[in-house]
Amino acid sequence: MLSRQIAPKLRGYETPFYLYDIGLLRQTLESVVYESNKYGYKVHYAIKANYDDHLLGIIRQYGLGIDCASGNELRKAVEAGFDPKGIVYAGVGKRDKELRYAIEQGIMAINCESIQELELLDRLSAEAGKVTDIALRINPDIDPKTNHCIDTGQADSKFGISYEEVLANADEIKALKNVNIIGIHLHIGSQIRELHVFENMCNKVNVIVENLEKLGFSFRFVDVGGGLGVNYDVPENEPIPNFASLFSIVHNHLAVGDKEVHFEFGRSIVAECGELITTVLFNKTTATGRKLVIVDASMTELIRPALYGSYHNIENITAKDDEVRTKYTVVGTACESTDVFDENVTLRKTQRGDLLSIKSAGAYGMSMASRYNLHDLPGAVYSDEIK
Ligand SMILES: *Cc1c(COP(=O)(O)O)cnc(C)c1O
Repeated sequence: MLSRQIAPKLRGYETPFYLYDIGLLRQTLESVVYESNKYGYKVHYAIKANYDDHLLGIIRQYGLGIDCASGNELRKAVEAGFDPKGIVYAGVGKRDKELRYAIEQGIMAINCESIQELELLDRLSAEAGKVTDIALRINPDIDPKTNHCIDTGQADSKFGISYEEVLANADEIKALKNVNIIGIHLHIGSQIRELHVFENMCNKVNVIVENLEKLGFSFRFVDVGGGLGVNYDVPENEPIPNFASLFSIVHNHLAVGDKEVHFEFGRSIVAECGELITTVLFNKTTATGRKLVIVDASMTELIRPALYGSYHNIENITAKDDEVRTKYTVVGTACESTDVFDENVTLRKTQRGDLLSIKSAGAYGMSMASRYNLHDLPGAVYSDEIK
């Protein structure tokens, strides 16, 4: 990882901060663009993963569209210069003012997640004197074989309209005058590492599209969401996710004729290029013999371990290579017992003042940061700006 190579230079910045490896981000973007072009697939970046301006500026250079999950995310994408015609907007609970803004911007599609939302959009579009392009976000009822905190496409999930409900209301939906239903959208979950899950997804999409078109719908595109996982265990082994395999699976199993195929990747674009750099404040040993390393970051900078029990690989980037290795529990400064980055992590001998890197933190790190305990929000250091 970049941080160990440039550790002496990182001493000059106030911790904790996110370090972004811009070279790796560019290589990742080159890969996703190159692999998707082989099949003419269109790629959107899920802006909720990280809406840092510097990163967005780079992502925009590669021609990706944007996937948003709120009105403010949509506004951010528009202000960052992304073409509204490449922006999709999903979300189970969109406020009226958010829908009005999306209608006004004329984005590629609003992905609707309930019958009520469809009816509301129809009414708001009529009020605005517009016909709005939309996609139906269908709940495909698929087990993505990931952490249940981040699955989104099982029958009981809050996301998407159930396929049965679309069938039951097909005539009413088709009769809406101010919405133009041009696509099908689904997103089955995140951090999916078992790629055969995407095969099941394609089979479902084939059936859904075929049946709905029989009922008189006609779709220009299918948007199969994001979810491609990254290697949190040993990021060095797989710094760039395997876009090629995913696209090849979709190419071999999706049978929707010449419709456009869209993807929405968040984690797989930005996770590996980000590291959270933190300073060791103290060491102490509990009465039970646990060796604690207390660092100046916490769940307020990176909540994933506390929120989902997620694993991030941690490394002491300033200890000498030949230091003895010991098992530690790395904890943060917040007043919560779940504020633990890892238990039983093997680190080179770690002491006050050392810098640790918490790796693969570029996605859902900074974008989920909070000011609990009135912590300052963490800063950002970009490899292309370090002198
Ligand atoms: C979060 C989200 C994504 C991105 O998911 P990743 O797992 O980060 O790729 C894509 N589409 C929708 C609708 C989402 O909610």
